[in-house]
Amino acid sequence: MIAIRFSTGGGVSDLDLIDLRDDEPVALAADETPWRVLIVDDDEQVHQVTRFALQGSRVLGRPLHFDSAFSADEARALLAQSRYSLILLDVVMETEDAGLKLVGEIRERFEDPAVRIVLRTGQPGYAPEIEVIQNYDINDYRAKSELTSQRLLTSLTAALRSYQQICTIESNRAGLQRVLDASSGLMTVRAVRGFAERVVLQICNILAVPADGLLCGDGDDGLHILAAIGRDAAYAGQPLDALSDNDRVARIATVRRTERSEFAASGACLFLRSPRLGALVVDVPTNKRTSELDRRLLDIYAINVAVGLDNAHLFEELELYAFHDALTGLWNRTSLERELARRSALGSPFALVLADIDNFQAVNDGLGHEIGDRTLKAAAALLADAFGPAVFLARPAADNFALIVDDVARLPTLLANLAQRLARNVLVDGHAVPMTMTLGVARFPQHGNAAATLFRNAGIALKQAKRRDRGGYREFDNRFEVELKERLNTIRELRHVVERGELRLHYQGKHDLGSGRRVGVEALLRWQRGPGELVGPDRFIDAAEESGLIVPIGAWVVAEACRQQREWAARGFDVPMAVNVSPRQLKDADFTAMVDRAIADSGIAPDRLEIEITESLLLGEGDRASEIITSLRGRGVHIAIDDFGIGHSSLSRLQQLPIDRLKIDRSFVTDLDVRAENRSIVDLVIKLGHALGLKVLAEGVERAEQAEVLRTLGCDEVQGYLFDRPRPPSDVA
Ligand code: C2E
Ligand code: MG
Ligand code: MG
Repeated sequence: MIAIRFSTGGGVSDLDLIDLRDDEPVALAADETPWRVLIVDDDEQVHQVTRFALQGSRVLGRPLHFDSAFSADEARALLAQSRYSLILLDVVMETEDAGLKLVGEIRERFEDPAVRIVLRTGQPGYAPEIEVIQNYDINDYRAKSELTSQRLLTSLTAALRSYQQICTIESNRAGLQRVLDASSGLMTVRAVRGFAERVVLQICNILAVPADGLLCGDGDDGLHILAAIGRDAAYAGQPLDALSDNDRVARIATVRRTERSEFAASGACLFLRSPRLGALVVDVPTNKRTSELDRRLLDIYAINVAVGLDNAHLFEELELYAFHDALTGLWNRTSLERELARRSALGSPFALVLADIDNFQAVNDGLGHEIGDRTLKAAAALLADAFGPAVFLARPAADNFALIVDDVARLPTLLANLAQRLARNVLVDGHAVPMTMTLGVARFPQHGNAAATLFRNAGIALKQAKRRDRGGYREFDNRFEVELKERLNTIRELRHVVERGELRLHYQGKHDLGSGRRVGVEALLRWQRGPGELVGPDRFIDAAEESGLIVPIGAWVVAEACRQQREWAARGFDVPMAVNVSPRQLKDADFTAMVDRAIADSGIAPDRLEIEITESLLLGEGDRASEIITSLRGRGVHIAIDDFGIGHSSLSRLQQLPIDRLKIDRSFVTDLDVRAENRSIVDLVIKLGHALGLKVLAEGVERAEQAEVLRTLGCDEVQGYLFDRPRPPSDVA
């Protein structure tokens, strides 16, 4: 039996294929397999006559086997059990159109489009011939009276021949499907060129000719050979004109122009259209004219292939996305990991450099993502420029770049190049913008011989540089790991400092430079880590910020400072109290409410409280910071900008905000009396502050000379060891 099942949706399941594979050679090759013919007629005599007339006949070399059904119902029962090659069907049986109805059922319910049907009727008037032939998928429609045994045999033979052709097409189609579904399937051959080569190969296989041929597509200046195999292989990538065979060139050009396949004796030239790649022509040399069946097969194949080519094209694009960073066009993290793995397998030394744009977050949040994106592109271009084309350059994360340097000896030169490029401003959108980068370096194999370790260690070096040497670079050192561990330890311990009551506040006075009078105090945090061990903020504030623990710790500071202020005020020492707040605290939605609570709980007058915010925050937290500053100021709380001079806050920004005081960073004050440039910066800041109507305070004043210069420059206030050291509250009172 020929077990072909046609699936309605066009897809062929594995089961179908298995059936075909098992039966196909037998069904098509074995002569003795009888054709199964079903006679459906309510007239017993018709059965006998038919069998008698055809007894012993062979059709297309094979014998006939008959089954009989005497009603449409009986026919249904038989059809449910087995498949037939041919049905001789009576029209009028139980009803006038019982036979016609059955035709529809065979095609739809029994899903058998292959079986051939010859309709026979005793009363032709009931169903007009033309109408029936047009509307029903049948092979022949005859009056029983005209069917002599000779005629019957002719009709039967014609029907069985077309049945055999349908089976052949279907088995070939299934064979093609197999080819496409198998390992060479559309999904695994991803690159367009590789796929195209396979297309040519498969077409050669279908035509059973040697594997030579090519596939052309539209180029900028005429047709180009996209892929080629066998004797044509050398032409891949060339214009069509490169072919020496002029007839062939003409044939391909014609097919492209007319968009119709052509089958000459010397070659099959197939037109394909793929939605993404457009018009394509496959040309395969042959030595015989392509048969009708093969042409039809190729048509079916062409449709599948167009989709496959599109998939291959998509995969190429996906691959581009998968391994490249869309914004900068650099390699992405996946590629970096691949490359690191590849190089570590090779074994030659190389260095991995991670570069991070300083304060990028601030640019991105403060100036918007568009400027952020342009900054990243500018940074990418700058790195490419400084390191040269020989270096593998990737962007593994947001503002993080990675470079693989093979020529390790040149690394210092390359880093110097970069520093030089960074010293000039970077052009973003036509504006010169200052940009600094911090770098971390890890070397293969010293700092790790697996890609992941190396990447991690370069990251640790970068973090270390960020902390200690912003704008500079650090090479990985095993000590960093120890520090990292300590840091994690610190974070673990910090978790409980508030409830264990291990936090202390020390206070340092602020003095009026003119009168020398104390005009306020600043609360400075200390951690009583163990008995006799008082830890300064420099050693734990970073860790607290990083872990978010600064939020509860900072809340404790504000509450305690307010409480202390009230206590002193009650004793007649009503001094303004300044408290430091780090950027991370302002991100906390509860921040202003927290300050409100501290004020309410302590009963402090809001204008006795001053919040110190670092300058970098003005840039970084942009709008959110303005909002908080404005709402705090609205409550009467004073605002000071701490560590002023080291950030890049814009004047307009300062002007917009309701600020009370600028605190000049200690680094400018340190050698104020010896370095002229520091003196001019301080001079400038003081003038600027005064122009904006702010009080200006200089931090870290240790020597009388510094105080003297500050006085000359017109600075209002000072803070520093010269006047007062941070002290515990008992000492202050
Ligand atoms: P800051 O706000 O700029 O505080 C001034 C720092 O300079 C203090 O260091 C102070 O002891 C030190 N200092 C004052 N006068 C002199 C001087 O004449 N010479 C020198 N060399 N140093 C002087 P401290 O207490 O170690 O605090 C360091 C930083 O930690 C502070 O800088 C502040 O940014 C941060 N910080 C302190 N307390 C807190 C806090 O409660 N919360 C937050 N978020 N940060 C805090
Ligand atoms: Mg401060
Ligand atoms: Mg400061």
